[in-house]
Amino acid sequence: MNTNVIENLKAAFGEGRVFTGEAIGADFCHDEYPGGNFAPDAVVETQSTDDVSVVLKICSENDVPVTVRGAGTGQVGGSVPIKGGIVLSVKGMDKILEFNEAERTLRVQPGVLLQDVKSEAESHGLYYPPDPGEKTSTIGGNAATDAGGPCAVKYGGTRDYIVDGVAILADGSVKKLNDAEEIIGSEGTLGVICELTLRLIDKPKADAILLLPFMDTESCVKAAQTVLGTGCSPAVVEYMDTDMVEFSGNVTGNPVFPVEMDGERVAATLMAVLEGEDDDLVMEQMESIAELAEELECLDILVGDTTTMKRDMWAAHDAFHTSMESGAKNSFEYNITVPAVNIAEMVEWVKAAAEEKGMKAMAYAHVGSGGMHIHIAFDGERDEFKSLINELTPAVYEKCTALGGDIRGEYGFGYAKAPFAGDAGSKLKAAKAELDPKGILNPGKVAD
Ligand SMILES: Cc1cc2nc3c(=O)[nH]c(=O)nc-3n(C[C@H](O)[C@H](O)[C@H](O)COP(=O)(O)OP(=O)(O)OC[C@H]3O[C@@H](n4cnc5c(N)ncnc54)[C@H](O)[C@@H]3O)c2cc1C
Repeated sequence: MNTNVIENLKAAFGEGRVFTGEAIGADFCHDEYPGGNFAPDAVVETQSTDDVSVVLKICSENDVPVTVRGAGTGQVGGSVPIKGGIVLSVKGMDKILEFNEAERTLRVQPGVLLQDVKSEAESHGLYYPPDPGEKTSTIGGNAATDAGGPCAVKYGGTRDYIVDGVAILADGSVKKLNDAEEIIGSEGTLGVICELTLRLIDKPKADAILLLPFMDTESCVKAAQTVLGTGCSPAVVEYMDTDMVEFSGNVTGNPVFPVEMDGERVAATLMAVLEGEDDDLVMEQMESIAELAEELECLDILVGDTTTMKRDMWAAHDAFHTSMESGAKNSFEYNITVPAVNIAEMVEWVKAAAEEKGMKAMAYAHVGSGGMHIHIAFDGERDEFKSLINELTPAVYEKCTALGGDIRGEYGFGYAKAPFAGDAGSKLKAAKAELDPKGILNPGKVAD
């Protein structure tokens, strides 16, 4: 890379915000995708929209790649600088700029963490619903991936809460954002999101969790669809495979969801979150689902209606991902979207396909929005695991597509899925030709 670029960046920002060589922290070379380390030539920490514009002008004039990084919690290598160049870290752009009471909006910089957006909304008696599992991700990263989460079935994803914003394009120019803007969800390939105005809503005053265990996967997924059709409008309808529940419960030592009932192994459990303006309204919804128990063919209906029970259930659910990381000798995660009617088939297929290769597949899914998380575990050696996953991956994506699903899932393409992106990649390529003709933003990813 032209050394003038680093000198120009240092001249603009000072030595303290431009890092090279060993001063680059190891974290900047990877995200949560287990695909290896890629060091950038430099990391630049920006603090304002103007800073971002300056970085992009310098890099654009010198044809230097720029990879934007939020918190680096992505699971597809999106913020990893696989072509070197500059990592532009927006994590220091972490100011909550304005709460507008009349409009019920929050204007923020992109490095504000999701957990801080949520608590700021709460401090004004309001609610910011999007809930990707990793609350230490940045709001800019959420917007760049259009992050979803379990409650997307009722509330939608991040895009649905963006009123407007500001992005900086590859040449350093300013672009105003709205919710339809293609920069949202483009994973840092079209522009750098520098400011967002988010819509806040009223938070339901009461909620309860229902757990419905089933003897087979198909019945569990069908029941989820029936529950969605009752008019209760649950905030969450989560399919949870018992292999996943059991593995995670063993690792955390805090099993919460049923594994066996009356001496028989449960195949899967449905977790439904019901909400209402008061407890009576939530109770009415619980009763309407209980009336369907026979039709649903569930083994039981367990209720979590105290703060402690709800907290424990959510903690057990949120531990699925981390327990794989800490409890499996080798693990890999597929995040895809599959229409609800085909979730059971996808689960059965991937379990058989993994087993054939000596691995174990475990899954959970947000029925309705379709987000599926499939974890593969393997007890053998790392190298063997890597080659088994390389063999399994194209088959998983092929099956997902054949079932009418989308391999992007909730997490985006990054470099992990870019080779399989198909049409979605072509659309981004077309937008990139217009917004980033030199191709400096996040090269090697989905828009290339
Ligand atoms: C335990 C765990 C659970 C998760 N659960 C979910 C979930 O339920 N749903 C879900 O959708 N995701 C989930 N994720 C994935 C991840 O948290 C999300 O993708 C999140 O939105 C990434 O935010 P980040 O700040 O970490 O972004 P990064 O990982 O830093 O970047 C992600 C992508 O966005 C781009 N980017 C980041 N900031 C900007 C910006 N300001 N402007 C332009 N582009 C930018 C990057 O270049 C990259 O392509 C989970 C991850 C973990 C580890």
